[in-house]
Amino acid sequence: MIRLQGLYDGVSQALQERQTPPPEVKALEETNRHRQAELTDLEALVVTHQDELREVHKGEEEWRLELEHFQKQKSMVTNEREFTAVISEIDYATKELDTRKTRHDELDTVIQELAEDIENRQQARPEEEAAQKEITQGWEATKEDLKLKVQKLAQDADSLEEDLSPKSRALFHRLLKSKKGIAIAAVADGSCSACHFKLRPHLMQRVRRCEEIITCEFCHRVLFREDAISDQGDGEG
Ligand SMILES: [Zn+2]
Repeated sequence: MIRLQGLYDGVSQALQERQTPPPEVKALEETNRHRQAELTDLEALVVTHQDELREVHKGEEEWRLELEHFQKQKSMVTNEREFTAVISEIDYATKELDTRKTRHDELDTVIQELAEDIENRQQARPEEEAAQKEITQGWEATKEDLKLKVQKLAQDADSLEEDLSPKSRALFHRLLKSKKGIAIAAVADGSCSACHFKLRPHLMQRVRRCEEIITCEFCHRVLFREDAISDQGDGEG
């Protein structure tokens, strides 16, 4: 059972490792997430600017028509007062039109720059991608190794369990499940090393004799002598 516990310790450790990507893999995932978020923001910004550009363009068309209208009127004025009024309208429309033209140019430039930025970010960076691939593949290989390790440990556990009586085997698995993966406990200084419950002297003696399975009276784990590992192995107990 001690050897068996060792195997199951190995299994849970390997499974734990498999669920814990190394820092470089986590960093890579984080970088990619960050990069993608930035791209999404930039693309959203382009959409916003394009919306504004459409509005500006519409305004430009409207003021251009206004300007044409007042320019026609200018040729039809009959007195000084009308002339002054039309000129004032023309000035105003010209100013409005210019404002929109300027904004139109600004937006064109910004959208162009954003598009270039996005393209640069999206373009393949061969060296970086090779490095990323190496990290990803390394981690995949490690995970595969761990999987094989778990399979091997499970096989070893199976063959060890064949030597156990069905009753001991059932007990072991019941404890493994209910005791957070630790079915056995060494006796240290007369106490269970898992829960520190002090063994009664006659139980202590029976543990020492190694002839039967003795369980802790408090946590119910199977008890073993600390020196049993270096002794003759685990046998049934
Ligand atoms: Zn105990």
